[in-house]
Amino acid sequence: MPDTNVIASAQPALDEVTHHDAIVIGAGISGMFMLYRLRELGLTARVFEAGTGVGGTWYWNRYPGARFDSESWTYGYSFSKELWQEWDWKEHFSPQPDTLEYLNHVADKFDLRRDIQFRSTVTAAHWDDAANEWTVTLESGQQAKSRLLLTAIGILSAYTLPAIPGRDSFKGPAYHPARWPHTPVDFTGKRVGIIGTGATAIQAIPEIAKQCAHLTVFQRRPNWAAPLHNAKISKEEMDAIKSRYEEIYAHCARTPSWFIHEADRRKAVDVSPEEREAFWEKLYAEPGFGIWMGNFRDILVDEKANVLISEFIAKKIRQRVKDPKIAEKLIPKDHGFGSRRVPLESGYFETYNRDNVTLVDVINDEQIECITPNGVKTTAKEYEFDIMVYATGFDGVTGAFDRIDFRGPNGVRLRDVWADGPRTYLGMVPDGFPNMLMALGPHTARGNIPQAVEHSVNFQAGLLRHMKEHGYTRVETRLEQVEAWTETVIKAAEPLLSSKVDSWQTGVNRNVEGRQVRRVLGYNGNGAHFRKTTDDVAAGGYKEFVFK
Ligand code: NAP
Repeated sequence: MPDTNVIASAQPALDEVTHHDAIVIGAGISGMFMLYRLRELGLTARVFEAGTGVGGTWYWNRYPGARFDSESWTYGYSFSKELWQEWDWKEHFSPQPDTLEYLNHVADKFDLRRDIQFRSTVTAAHWDDAANEWTVTLESGQQAKSRLLLTAIGILSAYTLPAIPGRDSFKGPAYHPARWPHTPVDFTGKRVGIIGTGATAIQAIPEIAKQCAHLTVFQRRPNWAAPLHNAKISKEEMDAIKSRYEEIYAHCARTPSWFIHEADRRKAVDVSPEEREAFWEKLYAEPGFGIWMGNFRDILVDEKANVLISEFIAKKIRQRVKDPKIAEKLIPKDHGFGSRRVPLESGYFETYNRDNVTLVDVINDEQIECITPNGVKTTAKEYEFDIMVYATGFDGVTGAFDRIDFRGPNGVRLRDVWADGPRTYLGMVPDGFPNMLMALGPHTARGNIPQAVEHSVNFQAGLLRHMKEHGYTRVETRLEQVEAWTETVIKAAEPLLSSKVDSWQTGVNRNVEGRQVRRVLGYNGNGAHFRKTTDDVAAGGYKEFVFK
């Protein structure tokens, strides 16, 4: 696997302003596919990417244990049948190095790199109404202009460090998983401290514990987690998957979130305790998100049903963790199972049976006071470490937008327009920002990310084709459409238990100023409804937009 890519596209001189039909920000899964579609439309495009290689999330997150939580063979791009047939997934839940290799393969196969400028962090994008174009500015000062601006900046790219006093005083190496070094970190014989117990930490903790002398986990709130049950894919299995791709993708396109899993039609509260238990035992023993997405249809909306499934998972944790006191600390008490995105784990709970692992509950037992040059000082003692890991998450969804100074007509700032919550049409076009399209913007349907991205990029490509055919050079939202869509998104979130819980999905991040209030950041309705809505807009000739 290449650690870094050769910078294929030439870097222009700093004072040379380049001109393109479209500028894409980000060369991850979304940006690569946007570039592919833009080229098909005959448009010139330049992709600006902060990293030295393609892959986005899979380029940055190189921490030990990083891997898919969706079945690999549903996570690849579906647009190229040739690609299906020539790529062999090695594991049912692909580890990060293989995924990055896959994305590099895609970049090579479709010769994408020649239009991607690496080491290019976009800091600003300003709309010039008179010229009807965007001016994009990079950290280096370089500028580029384009009629169209497409964001492909991810929903979990704005990583956040813990807002703990003394954080930068630690004298050893400290890593955030989203900025993991390209060469593996050697934990052999080291005392390691990790802050955070989200999906990232839940993948990293078992791997670090196997290598290090001692691992201390600082847990604020525990998370519900369920077994991943990863396995290798044999050649015969891969051949069988290749022969079924058409059917697999068609199935995903019918489920609410593009996963292979879909909710059982029964309700947990309607079946007998024996039937419930047998079903949950089966789901717990199966790979992937079945326990979350393929469960009884009431567990994510009905408190009573949710209490039942939470009790079942708690029982499993108690069975797997030998020390009952530690097991209790690992069982969430402030939210129910599935009301935050469920981390899928491989031996996470058994890790706490190891002699070289300590769990510190920083809510109930002792509180972190500060980070010191030697480690972490709590109200009980000072813990000394050689290495620190801050697995403290992301400013989800809108965080990446806030880090770029987007300005529309009259200098209006996107972050001001979205101050009380995002306002978009279909999560693809921000309110009042001409010629700006978003691949994974707030208020769009998500789930299995590549599938969601392909759907939205295909819709946007259709919109751009429509503009080309009619000679339009400007597209904007209509106020009534933005208001209706924003209302639809907010209404769709209301019945969900997840809307009542603090998480990156509800926009809460205590390490970021102004991120203490819950917001609705995604379209949580049925993806099938989303797909129908977008398909109807396209079939109707995009009447919901204003063109010039
Ligand atoms: P996260 O779920 O937001 O977890 C961050 C963790 O850090 C939480 O346990 C949080 O505690 C803790 N934390 C933050 N600041 C802290 C502080 N100042 N002091 C103590 N603890 C602190 O972030 P994540 O684990 O990176 O996961 C984010 C999302 O990424 C996941 O939900 C998932 O969608 C995605 N992901 C996917 C995969 C995959 O399998 N494909 C793997 C990793 C991540 P609180 O809960 O108390 O805030």
